[in-house]
Amino acid sequence: MDTVTEHTMAIYMALLGGLGIIHHNCSIEEQADMVKKVKRYENGFILDPVVLSPDTTVGEAKELKEKWGFGGFPVTENGTLKSRLIGMITTRDIQFHPSSNDPVSEVMSKDLVTAPAGTTLLEANELLRRSKKGKLPMVDENENLVALLSRSDLMKNLNYPLASKLPHSKQLICAAAIGTRPDDKRRLQALVDAGLDIVVLDSSQGNSIYQIEMIKYIKRTHPNLEVIAGNVVTRDQAAPLIAAGADGLRIGMGSGSACITQEVMAVGRPQATSVYRVSEFAARFGVPCIADGGIQNVGHIVKGLAMGASTVMMGGLLAGTTESPGDYFVSREGKLVKAYRGMGSIDAMEDKKAGAGAKNTKASNAGTARYFSEGDRLLVAQGVSGSVLDRGSVNKFVPYLLAGLQHSMQDIGVKSLVELREGVQNGNVRFDLRTASAQAEGNVHGLHSFDKKLYS
Ligand code: GDP
Ligand code: GDP
Repeated sequence: MDTVTEHTMAIYMALLGGLGIIHHNCSIEEQADMVKKVKRYENGFILDPVVLSPDTTVGEAKELKEKWGFGGFPVTENGTLKSRLIGMITTRDIQFHPSSNDPVSEVMSKDLVTAPAGTTLLEANELLRRSKKGKLPMVDENENLVALLSRSDLMKNLNYPLASKLPHSKQLICAAAIGTRPDDKRRLQALVDAGLDIVVLDSSQGNSIYQIEMIKYIKRTHPNLEVIAGNVVTRDQAAPLIAAGADGLRIGMGSGSACITQEVMAVGRPQATSVYRVSEFAARFGVPCIADGGIQNVGHIVKGLAMGASTVMMGGLLAGTTESPGDYFVSREGKLVKAYRGMGSIDAMEDKKAGAGAKNTKASNAGTARYFSEGDRLLVAQGVSGSVLDRGSVNKFVPYLLAGLQHSMQDIGVKSLVELREGVQNGNVRFDLRTASAQAEGNVHGLHSFDKKLYS
């Protein structure tokens, strides 16, 4: 969703052990750029470092730092990888240098600590630690630059031990959404070229010939790319997507906080029933499921996982965080809020139309075609547009959700999520029907006033 996940959210969700799905209500180039930012954020060996030539100017080096967000550049004879390493430039070399026109060869460090090609990541990290430098260039037997290591990656690794990373490259896992229009094949290619690992087919009703064909196309053309299909709420919807090759399913229709599909279209299903029915069916084929929408608190995560989902997807809950797109503003009541909208809201669909007109010549270049069909003159909303309260950083909020989940497992009396699921299957973990009065009893009652602070 465009008020939840762009590259910053995707980076921090991956660092914290989750995943952020980058939205597609933007041009292909913008979305691919976000994927690149996620993939470049953390590394083991940086195999394609930005390299300078000796006559790059200090001014140009400053511009490159601005563009990439890092300022440690190896300098090689030809200004390319696999050319002889002659120096290193860091932010401190150029920060206060008086003349922007001087070549970097005048300010670079030439006394370098390097590691020979073939050094393992473990050994190279140890060398980097001992060298007390920010970067460790790796060179072959002819002193040609082959890779770079960065001290800040050691810190990221230390600070985010749960990060969702690929085992070899140590890069963050990146997921993004696309639609099922012909032009989405071009979008897909751009995202794959940018390093995408997982694609989510974004549709409110996933069981369509377009989506089935898209799954088959992706499995044929990009066999290593994982495809999450959906959304579905019944076994009948799930079966054709599984048969077409979906690696995972997203379950939920109309349960999202900004969603009015059930009310306006009279289509959807209560979320717990959907998750239970579909994930039980999908498990027979080894296909994991995501409970998508309606997660308002830790308890809802527990319920989604107990019902059989392997994970949950949250929109509204994460929309008011520092890492979500957009700026905070002060509401009429004087509260700090951020905008949050359903992708089927008139607002989001109109932005999509405007984007198509203003930014691109081809209408289908921009944005999602999830609810809006290009020929339609009348927009029918399936979502609302509003705002959510400031929740602070996901750096604190996600660990709160995790800790809450652990406390819940302890109270239920299971040691793991696998045990929780088995408990539900064998009857050790049971659900009771809660009447309206039981629900009232389970909520705060009898207090004159209270403050519901969830964590500190
Ligand atoms: P710097 O000291 O200004 O270079 O920046 P940091 O060391 O704080 O951050 C560098 C981060 O960017 C590390 O996590 C790297 O893995 C990542 N990165 C990705 N590509 C490159 C690259 O080409 N060069 C450098 N220096 N870092 C890169
Ligand atoms: P929350 O987690 O309860 O806040 O639910 P969300 O509002 O975040 O919605 C989660 C899911 O709802 C998304 O991942 C989408 O699949 C779906 N969704 C998003 N926007 C809309 C919309 O405008 N209409 C409908 N019908 N579904 C939407």
